[in-house]
Amino acid sequence: MAGRATEDGDRSAKPHRLDAEAPGSVPRWVMRRGARHQTRVQAGPVEIGGTGFVVIAGPCAVEGVEQTETVASVVKGAGAHLLRGGVFKPRTSPYAFQGMGEPGLRIISEAGRRHGLPIVVEVMDSAQISIVLEHADVLQIGARNMQNFSLLRALAKVPRPVLLKRGFCATIQEWLLAAEYLLDGGNAQVILCERGIRSFESSVRNTLDLSAVAYAKLHSHLPVVVDPSHATGNRDLVTPMALAAAASGADGLLLEVHPAPDAALCDGPQALTPDMFRDLMRRLRPVLAAVDRPLLTVSVKATAVAR
Ligand code: PEP
Ligand code: MN
Repeated sequence: MAGRATEDGDRSAKPHRLDAEAPGSVPRWVMRRGARHQTRVQAGPVEIGGTGFVVIAGPCAVEGVEQTETVASVVKGAGAHLLRGGVFKPRTSPYAFQGMGEPGLRIISEAGRRHGLPIVVEVMDSAQISIVLEHADVLQIGARNMQNFSLLRALAKVPRPVLLKRGFCATIQEWLLAAEYLLDGGNAQVILCERGIRSFESSVRNTLDLSAVAYAKLHSHLPVVVDPSHATGNRDLVTPMALAAAASGADGLLLEVHPAPDAALCDGPQALTPDMFRDLMRRLRPVLAAVDRPLLTVSVKATAVAR
């Protein structure tokens, strides 16, 4: 559902001279206007930002049919709502695996359909938008592209939800301003994703900023999900941070899962094994209950993903 309007923002206001970069200010379309102002993003039959807590899970990168099918079956069986998987991978080294490209898109798309899981796929470049749009239910903007303004402007025009990762050197305000590009350009279906920021700390891959989650929930009406996989870079730290994220008021999680993490072509050290993922899902329920939040239930009838 594209369209400039957020749910109850004041659309009659005159074009503005916005001092959005003044310290502490929140950009106008991203700003929460009252306790009940909340955007609900619709990804196929899955609502993100409603009452139900949403789990997005899958491999860092699509590596082949068997790997993707195994992960899809594991995450669906354990109660995840969406399947993630990169086919265009932003890698630090040009010699690292760059993703399967279009054939990978077909693989994740078929796995998603088979298991009734809408899919989340990263778009690295405007030239990839049309092909990814043919398959994906949610388009991801990676941390490295959070301030790629031409990509933001292009994705503001697509009739599909966008998951916007926080850049690892971005302030909360820069992150919200990046979201503002999407809203102002016409796409109101935006999910914010906190994935850790770079700090002086070197024992973990990034520093998970849960105060950013509480801040974004307080000041913006957009749904916020947390990615403890990239935030920690270490599978043994993912579950505790996922539980903390659920307790912090996030609307969902984004998690990397691999059937054989030691053989993963990308981000293996942070990938949960199937058993670890099932254990995380079991432990999530009491934490959600403690903050009065149910895990989302998607009606069986609605799980067929039509695309
Ligand atoms: C990813 O989700 O696999 C990814 C590359 O994440 P980020 O952009 O947060 O590094
Ligand atoms: Mn990854």
